[in-house]
Amino acid sequence: MAKFKENIKCSFCGRDKKDALILIAGLEGHICESCVEQAYQIINDEVQDPFDDGKKKKQTNNFGLEYKPKDIKSFLDEYIIGQDDAKRTISVAVYNHYKRLKQKTKDDVEIEKSNIVFVGETGTGKTLMAKTIARFLDVPFAIVDATVFTEAGYVGEDVESMLTRLLQACDYDVPAAERGIVYIDEIDKIARKGDNPSITRDVSGEGVQQAMLKMLEGTEVNVPPQGGRKHPEQKMIKVDTRNILFICGGAFDGVQKEISKRLNTQIIGYGKREDERVDNDNLLQYITHKDLKSFGLIPELLGRLPVLTYLEPLDKSTLISILTEPKNALVKQYGRLFELEGIKLKFEEDALEFIADKALEFKLGARGLRSLCEAILKDAMFELPSTKNVSEFVVDKSLAEEKINKSKISKLKAA
Ligand code: ADP
Repeated sequence: MAKFKENIKCSFCGRDKKDALILIAGLEGHICESCVEQAYQIINDEVQDPFDDGKKKKQTNNFGLEYKPKDIKSFLDEYIIGQDDAKRTISVAVYNHYKRLKQKTKDDVEIEKSNIVFVGETGTGKTLMAKTIARFLDVPFAIVDATVFTEAGYVGEDVESMLTRLLQACDYDVPAAERGIVYIDEIDKIARKGDNPSITRDVSGEGVQQAMLKMLEGTEVNVPPQGGRKHPEQKMIKVDTRNILFICGGAFDGVQKEISKRLNTQIIGYGKREDERVDNDNLLQYITHKDLKSFGLIPELLGRLPVLTYLEPLDKSTLISILTEPKNALVKQYGRLFELEGIKLKFEEDALEFIADKALEFKLGARGLRSLCEAILKDAMFELPSTKNVSEFVVDKSLAEEKINKSKISKLKAA
């Protein structure tokens, strides 16, 4: 320890020994107290980050009914902007689902599963909602894409392989997986094609819907440990799906037509009372299971997805809030990255507005916000670490415009 020389610096931030409260010596370098603090914060954030793949944390399933639907919603509020209806619906559904799990008495009243279906445009937060719920409950979570599945015997994956993902998310801890959550994305893409199913076999549409029925309802499934197709010689893992919560999501492009047909909007608006008027700009709020049936989901599948809710399209002010407000908002994340270089990052209001406008223009939903920020900050993130004496970096509209016009993302305009 007495070996400190006068020109010793923190190897992380470069702070001089005389400016630091304490410098801890390692084999090859030193670290000051503020870098230790920042490193600790990063580790904390990493471990608690709700958007990791669920593998890092030990899955314990400690959900107790001490959490009421309001608590679940408050947690969702920290990470998800808006979407109040969906949040309330999912909070109640999840609460009931776990209440059902805790039910001990076996009398004639059997509470049914509350599997959920989300309808909403791409990038409105469907996956985020499911992920955040799984994080709150601390249960294994898997995201699967409905389009990869085909009916057994055809090229593609068996539906059982979605449980493989769940098992992988908890290191094959079967009891943990049996209380987990599976998010099935793009459920709308397996809608029945055409009204007459008998013309050709619909192996990746109705066939998959049929194949999913038992699993969604609750049954013992033989799961191929490595996913893909079941082979007779492969050793299977038995998973009981009775307590697994399935959440399905899809954009259901064009379902508005079905809703409007049902609501008969042509005549609505004329001579109707205020509370009977239909908001034509957001027809999804009126969605019912019947509309999904008209869209091509079979009634048997819909019967196993009793909870239906919708996510609203994101408008400009919501996009700005998404950029700045959630616990791990993009602006906060980039701010942290710059802070680690000793630079204060500032987004001007007009830049935020510009980014939101572009996300709307490119029809990227909130998913596009990251690519836009990345395009704007890429050069700065390349240059600044080797530039001296920069203490602040300001993103204003003209900078945002210049960088986005220069980047590949601007080509999306033509699409
Ligand atoms: P979807 O599943 O509806 O296509 P995602 O949940 O994958 O959309 O959303 C994409 C990204 O957009 C998320 O990772 C999140 O960062 C952001 N996002 C979308 N909607 C919201 C929201 N309402 N609040 C906060 N972030 C959102």
